[in-house]
Formats: sequence, structure tokens, C-alpha cells
Amino acid sequence: MPQKQFEAESKRLLEMMINSIYSQREVFLRELISNASDAIDKLYYKALTDDSLTFNTEDYYIKVSADKESRTLTVTDTGIGMTEEELIDNLGVIARSGSLSFKKENEIKDGHDIIGQFGVGFYAAFMVADKVTVKTKALNSDQGYLWESEGTEGYRIETIDKSTTGTEIALTIKESTDEDDYDQFLDVNQLKSIIVKYSDFIRYPIKMDITSTEPQGEGEEPVEVIEEKTVNSMIPIWKKNKNELSDEDYNQFYTEKHYGFDQPLQHIHISVDGNIRYDAILYIPENMPYNYYSAEYEKGLELYSNGVLIMNKSADLLPDYFSFVKGLVDSEDLSLNISREMLQHDRQLKLIAKNINKKIKTELQKMLKNDREKYEKFYDSFGRQLKYGVYSDFGQNKETLQDLLLFYSSKEKKLVTLAEYVERMPEDQPYIYYATGETNERIERLPQTEVVLDKGYEILYLTDDIDEFAIKMLATYQEKEFKSVSSGDLGFEPEEENTEEEIKENKALLDHMKEVLANKVKDVRISKRLKSHPVCLSNDGDISIEMEKVLNMMPDNPQLKADKILEINVQHDVFKTMQAAYEKEDIQKTDLLTNILYHQALLIEGLSIEDPVEFSNDVWKAIAE
Ligand code: ADP
Ligand code: MG
Repeated sequence: MPQKQFEAESKRLLEMMINSIYSQREVFLRELISNASDAIDKLYYKALTDDSLTFNTEDYYIKVSADKESRTLTVTDTGIGMTEEELIDNLGVIARSGSLSFKKENEIKDGHDIIGQFGVGFYAAFMVADKVTVKTKALNSDQGYLWESEGTEGYRIETIDKSTTGTEIALTIKESTDEDDYDQFLDVNQLKSIIVKYSDFIRYPIKMDITSTEPQGEGEEPVEVIEEKTVNSMIPIWKKNKNELSDEDYNQFYTEKHYGFDQPLQHIHISVDGNIRYDAILYIPENMPYNYYSAEYEKGLELYSNGVLIMNKSADLLPDYFSFVKGLVDSEDLSLNISREMLQHDRQLKLIAKNINKKIKTELQKMLKNDREKYEKFYDSFGRQLKYGVYSDFGQNKETLQDLLLFYSSKEKKLVTLAEYVERMPEDQPYIYYATGETNERIERLPQTEVVLDKGYEILYLTDDIDEFAIKMLATYQEKEFKSVSSGDLGFEPEEENTEEEIKENKALLDHMKEVLANKVKDVRISKRLKSHPVCLSNDGDISIEMEKVLNMMPDNPQLKADKILEINVQHDVFKTMQAAYEKEDIQKTDLLTNILYHQALLIEGLSIEDPVEFSNDVWKAIAE
């Protein structure tokens, strides 16, 4: 039978595996056993929902056996098996599970990351084997198939006689060298300890032929007996007592389940035994998954009904704002025969979801209170999601989420909660002030922040594009209103009021400027807030300048614009020059300076200039005069 080629990416990863210098090669066994367990799960689930199938617990197991003579290690399962197409699809393409596609070519150096943190499933076998032979027969199929590969050259498939449904994977273990001990993977005791280490929680029996010596009667030689024994405890981790489990156990499980490439930042083990009964293990990952903000990312928890996996990703269990949470839920109260569509409307499931939601929130609050550093790490990865949560669904979750938010404070020079801000507010401070911009440094230098800072008030710096949307949705916190430092009314009188006179004096000039800038700004006003800067932009109405930037980046959004106000510092030398020019009826110069000031205000706000060449020419002209 002709060789088939592996897909290009698979080939690359295979090469890496084969030449792997990875110290934990033993994880290959975890991968094979977990696949076997998945395959039995699939069959079990089918049997429970299809009356024509029966499932006798004792018929379902995984067997691991080793033969030193032929250097063969075999993992056999009584699971659902694979058809010919499935063999090609599942074992010929490695990138399917996504483990490779996220890694850039140059990041894959020796594969430590992928193998160590994620596992690459089936292909891990090539870390220890020269040849892998898969014999399989799918459920309800009459034909068995053999799949065989010696590595990167490709694989071949042929038909075979196989009487039982399930899969048998035989590895021809590499020869040991001075540096590398492969013989351990043929040693029953070694294998047993690897299984206990990584696969103890597998729900099905993992059987091995264990040899023991039985003492005989007086004067007789002891006899070696071989007995098939189950080597794993079979108690799923979530059914175990919390006190029996270490962080290590939870972390192992996270890796075994392929929940993420990282280590969990926090685990939450829940056992509820009341109106509704369920066990859950939830994880807050340390890092944002590489595809978190892509359409590919699917939120959800694994859902078990009394130990049987009924759904891989039950999205209904998690609100979007906690979509980063990984883990599983097991409940005896869920009916197994229920269809997946009906599950969505299941009352029990809704109750569990509500309960879980509360637990996650409590856990995060605890972290915020007791381990600020850890919380900030979490917030760095997922804070954005919380802010989305405040904003989306018409703000109905704001109560839940507002105390989990952090913003950078002008006073503390670090992230603070809203509660901390409000607690520090001086009695006379009317609002919670915020300023928006691209970075803290840029915000700090905004002309608009100056007057509020000078007043001694704290400002929250919003640098994430979602921030202001979330703040607008909150509207108030502990009855204090949020106020942008760019808004017209700051709630306090600046020290120097501009006099009626000033306004009267400059009316003609300001009107003229407004004409020059028609369609660009809504108004030109004498600023009450500017101190050292000549000019700034503020806005009237609901759309701020920062929001305009964000909205205009979104596709299919009508070109929403903020109503911009150009504020002028009439005490500034530039304005005085302009006044002089205007008085001399030097309209050309007046217009030139007006345009320059307007463009500078745009630049300060981080907005782009329509015609940079014209602006640049204007500046030269002004200098040359
Ligand atoms: P993953 O388990 O993440 O999907 P693997 O590389 O471990 O990735 O396995 C690839 C696929 O091959 C599995 O999803 C499954 O469809 C199939 N497979 C592997 N081992 C078995 C098995 N023992 N029985 C049935 N199918 C299997
Ligand atoms: Mg797998």
C-alpha cells in the first residue's frame, strides 16, 4: 500500500518530537491513555443515549502491556474506534487541535513549550518510539484498519481483520543509548508509576499484568504469578476531598486536560450538596489564551453527568465576562438522556450556572483583597473582559463587576479600585474624575488634566479603549458621578474666572476663528482650565473624543463624531500674537495661527491630522515670518 504524506506542519512537529531532548518524555503515555479514555467516553455516551447499545461497565477498560523481547508497548482500549477517514483525519493532521497553529515558525525551536505545557496528543508517541502501529475498528463497522508510521516519512493504512470495537496502539520503543533510557518504558513498574503519576484520575480501569512472587509451602520455591490488576484509583479528582489534593494535583489536572498552555493562576474546587448537587473544578488561567479575542475561542465548561462527559463546552455555564474560566462541572442531577439543545433550557443547569458565577466572583474578590499582586496579574490578562462585561448586556452586570475593576490612579501611580478612590475623595470633591488617552504619560501631560490635578483631586487614567464605555455605563459609583476632565463643567470654579470683559474683548476674534474652523469644531471658547498650554479640545455631548477614536476603528459604524470645542488660553503668548495680527487686520496670519492651534490640539489628543503636509507647511510659514 502506498505511503501517505503527513501534512507539512505535522511533519515539522514530528521531526521535533523524534529529536526531542525533552526530559519528560514519559508524558506520551498520559496522552495515549487520555485518548483511550476519551474514546470510551464517546462510546459510553452513545450507549446512554441510544437504546440499541448496551454498556457494561466491566467491558470498558484500558490495557497497558509491555514486551521486552519485541520492545513493544501496547495501549489497548475498548472505546469507539476509528473509521478509515477518521484515521486519516485524526492521525494524519496534527494541527487540528490547534497546538501548532498558534506558534510562529521561529518560536518552535525545540518544542519544549508545546510538549511540556500543552502536550501534542497522539504524536507524543514518537518521542519514544521508532514505529507506531494503530489497529482499530469503529463502532458499527465491519472493517478493521491498520495505520502505521515510522515517523516523518508518512504513514500507510491497510485493512485488517479485527473482531472487537476499539483501538490498539503499539509502540516499538527506541533502543536506549548512553544518554537516553528508553528501556524504562518497557518496565512494568516504571510504567505503573507513570500511570499513577499522570493518569490516576481516569475514570476507567487501566489494567496491567503485574507479576508477583507467591511464597509456597515449606521448602518449596516461590512461584511467580501474573495477574491483571487495575493500577489507577479511578476516582476523578473532582470527587476527591480538597484536603487530599495539593496544588500540584490541580496543576497536573489542568495540564492533563489541556485547559491551557500556562499554569493556572488559581483553582476553585466546589462541592455543593444542597438543593442542587454538583462538583466543579474551575481554573483561572494565568495568561490570556492565544486565540482569546478571535472567533475561534469558545467559552464553556466540560459538563459531566455523574462522571460521564456529556458536553465538551457547555457555554451556558459561564457568562461572557468570565469566559476565560476553564474547568468542569459534574452533577448527578442532570439527566443523561436529555438532548444537548434541551440542556440549554434545563433548570438545574441554570441554577448551577448561577451558583458558579457567584463562586467565581467571590474567589476574585478574595484574591483582590488578600493577594493584590496575583489579582493584578489576573487583571492584566482578563481585566478587559470584565470591562466588556460592565458595558455589554445594557449594563445589567455592572453591580456584579464594578468592584472587580481597577484603573490607574494619578495619585497612587498604580491601579486602584473604585472603592479606594471614593474613600480618598475630599469632602468637597463633587465627581470621580477620569481622563482618557493612549498611555498614562500622555494623559498626564494633557492640558485638561492640569486644572483638576492642581485642585488636588485624583484622576483615573483610562488607557484601554473599552474603559470609557464601561465608565459611561456605570455612570455612578457609590452615588458619585463620573466626570471626564475634558467635559465642559468640572463642578468647581477655576481660580481665575475669565471676566465678562475678556469675553467681550475677544468675541470678534473667536467668532472669526470659529468661521475658519467651520465643520471642524462646534465652538471656540476661552478656556477656564488651561494654564500653561495655549490650546486644547473638549467636547459637548455624549460622545467623547476618545470614544470617537474607538468607534471609528470599528467596521460598519456610522462615522460618529464628538462635538469638539476648541478651548483657547487667552493669556498665552501665541494668542496674544494672534490678537495683534487680528487687530492689524492681518487675516492671513490670524488664519494661519488658528489652523496651527487647531491641529496642535488634535495632536495633543492623539487624533490624526487630515493633511500633515499642509500642517507642516503652516508651521514653517509661521516660523519664517
Ligand atoms: P486530541 O486528543 O487533543 O484531539 P490527539 O492527537 O491526542 O489530539 O488525538 C487526535 C485524535 O485522534 C483524537 O481527537 C481522536 O479523534 C483520535 N484518536 C486518538 N486516539 C484514539 C483512540 N484510542 N481511539 C479513538 N480515537 C482516537
Ligand atoms: Mg489527546
